[in-house]
Amino acid sequence: APTVGVLALQGAVSEHSDIMTSLGARTVLVRRADQIDGLAGIIIPGGESTAMARIAAPLGLFPVLRERVIAGLPVLGTCAGLILLADRVTDAGALNGFDRLATLDITAQRNAYGNQLASFEAPVTMPEHDHATIDAAFIRAPVISEVGPAARVIAEHGNTPVAVQQDHQIAATFHPEITGDTTLHQMLYRLISGA
Ligand code: GLN
Repeated sequence: APTVGVLALQGAVSEHSDIMTSLGARTVLVRRADQIDGLAGIIIPGGESTAMARIAAPLGLFPVLRERVIAGLPVLGTCAGLILLADRVTDAGALNGFDRLATLDITAQRNAYGNQLASFEAPVTMPEHDHATIDAAFIRAPVISEVGPAARVIAEHGNTPVAVQQDHQIAATFHPEITGDTTLHQMLYRLISGA
């Protein structure tokens, strides 16, 4: 079985690991750069991007991960994970000055939902999947304020893009693992197995 890493510095780690195991992958909790070598794919979970960036910095994790993703390592990033993947981040706050991956051609605006809407669940639609809806949990989520030409929208909430794909990179502003939806994990698994 392919080995999928779940970045385990902070945040929603075990749910992603459980889902990938249920799909047939082996999973590894990644906390060091030398663990990245044998991976067939990686998940960057939701949580707090500033905390992850601060913990990753002395470990030199993100420069290594960035090179591997540029070289083709399939990746799924959710919420804070999307922020770490985004090439451009606005309202970056304490993220400024820290390494990110910056491999995905989008602009992410951190904490872009107001206080009232900071956390909510809502169905999102997937235009490439016959407009199927999946249940999504948004938790102090970012907004994808711009989608560059290299990326395309794969899920929307109303008219707002909430998930994008760029070749072997998938990223969502929401937490699919909380509502138990495995659509994005299945997409990652297909990218890994080349199906
Ligand atoms: N607000 C968080 C951040 O800026 C993201 C929230 C999440 O991942 N659920 O990193």
